[in-house]
Amino acid sequence: MLRGLNMDRQLLVSSLIDYAGRNHSATEVVATDSTGRVHRTNWTQVHSRARQVAGALKAEGIEQGDRVGTIAWNDHRHLEVYYGITGIGSILHTVNPRLREQQIAWIVNHAEDQIVFVDPDFLPIAEKIASETTSVRSWVVLGEELPTTSLRNAVAYEEWIEESSPIDEWPILDEWSAATLCYTSGTTGNPKGVIQSHRSIVLQTWATCTGDGHDVNSSQSILLAVPMFHVNGWAIPFAAAMSGAKLVLPGPDMSAEALVRQIQDERVTFSAGVPTIWLSVVQYLQESGTDVPSLNRLAVGGAAAPRSLMDTLEDDYGVFVSHVWGMTEMTQGSAGRFTHRVEGLDREEQRSRQAMAGREIYGVELRLIDENGDEVQRDGTTPGELLARGPWVAGSYFGLDDDSTHIPALDGVWLRTGDVATMDREGYISIVDRAKDVIKSGGEWISSIELENAAVGAPGVVEAAAVGLPHDRWGERPLLIVVLEPGKELDADEVLESIKPHVASWWLPNGVVAVEEIPHTGTGKIDKKALREQFKDFEWPE
Ligand code: ADP
Repeated sequence: MLRGLNMDRQLLVSSLIDYAGRNHSATEVVATDSTGRVHRTNWTQVHSRARQVAGALKAEGIEQGDRVGTIAWNDHRHLEVYYGITGIGSILHTVNPRLREQQIAWIVNHAEDQIVFVDPDFLPIAEKIASETTSVRSWVVLGEELPTTSLRNAVAYEEWIEESSPIDEWPILDEWSAATLCYTSGTTGNPKGVIQSHRSIVLQTWATCTGDGHDVNSSQSILLAVPMFHVNGWAIPFAAAMSGAKLVLPGPDMSAEALVRQIQDERVTFSAGVPTIWLSVVQYLQESGTDVPSLNRLAVGGAAAPRSLMDTLEDDYGVFVSHVWGMTEMTQGSAGRFTHRVEGLDREEQRSRQAMAGREIYGVELRLIDENGDEVQRDGTTPGELLARGPWVAGSYFGLDDDSTHIPALDGVWLRTGDVATMDREGYISIVDRAKDVIKSGGEWISSIELENAAVGAPGVVEAAAVGLPHDRWGERPLLIVVLEPGKELDADEVLESIKPHVASWWLPNGVVAVEEIPHTGTGKIDKKALREQFKDFEWPE
């Protein structure tokens, strides 16, 4: 083999913050911390404080390969910690505070976290699990002073970084060494840990910055409405440094009002988040009569975005929605930029593309298979189980021997995503359902996602969930559960009438019920398991 004669430079997370630190002292990072205070800093300061964090970690004896946890909101301190931990080769383990305490303790122990950074808001979680954790040596509370706490071995972040000297330079690591660890929410069984290498983070960050990814670039002001504990904030904290974009970190107040205020004040051009956030933002914009003129693009994913949401954002507020699909195992797996051909189609055709879950992006190969493991054609209609592979797709899970989620094929190993989808010739995917949520009626599949999207377009329906419940004749039939606008009474016939044009007639739910609130999982998805349990004794109307 004739080797390429390029320089031997490793792809490391520290190179991202080095780049931003060198070039973007004039680019703001604006963060609201858990006390509600707004901090205006910039990439050069984030860089230097990340080196302080690294110095303090080293002083505590943290070494390459050690896991360091965070239980925190999106703010500047969490961002500094992201880079401080990964920069010295220890592993950033972001913990989702919305999980049950028992699960959090399990995750921290499984990861063997040595130090955990915790927001004052989440101190009660830390206090409750501290006696069950087996590896944590100290808790660093992300603030200026230490609040009263029952935690032993707790210190205040600002004092802690103040006391040690910053490291001069980041060590040169092997790009294959682990950088981040994030557990999937584990709706089935225990959570699974996804470890990303430095190389993987840099590659997926590059993909995030491309025009066909999230198009993150230096001309943007980005509001990070995805929690930094959810799939590394969809790689946006890394992509903002790689590109030198302005970054707005909203802290604990994720209300629509607070998000809209920040979009206006910081002239935010791009944001990303799960559909529920944008549903509440749209509702707030409509009720308050305000506008978000600077905002021109949103990446919406993590769960299916209803078409009505995308239409309202575009028609009433001029915001283009890129509908993305992804998972903890690979971060972003698709994105919704229109190809040149689709740009030329009429608006209706474009909208139907937008309702799909984006197109395959370079770096995450997608494939569909049937029950026999044979490849399903990309015809846009035949569903199959979605498989993925690529240089930043998880090849196995942390500390898990029994791995039934990867399947070997003649051309290598593929990740089974657990999603049922269709795919067309241009790589557009439509998620029919999570395999375990699909409703099986008389041997045929009904997509709960399509029913929900159609129902959200019905008069007065704010949110909808469809679940399959046992049915004597058909095996399973769909029950539709809706949240209505305040003051609206449920009119089941009206809801069903408005769904009718959008789905096959045999898909129409056999029952419609209204609830005050639909339960969500720790990552903002509708908790179908909880709903199936809640309605297990539901009796179908005659
Ligand atoms: P968790 O499994 O921990 O809740 P993930 O973010 O890893 O968190 O979940 C990934 C799953 O989210 C996907 O497998 C898919 O079922 C769902 N999902 C993500 N994006 C979309 C989308 N655009 N449309 C439908 N489902 C989506």
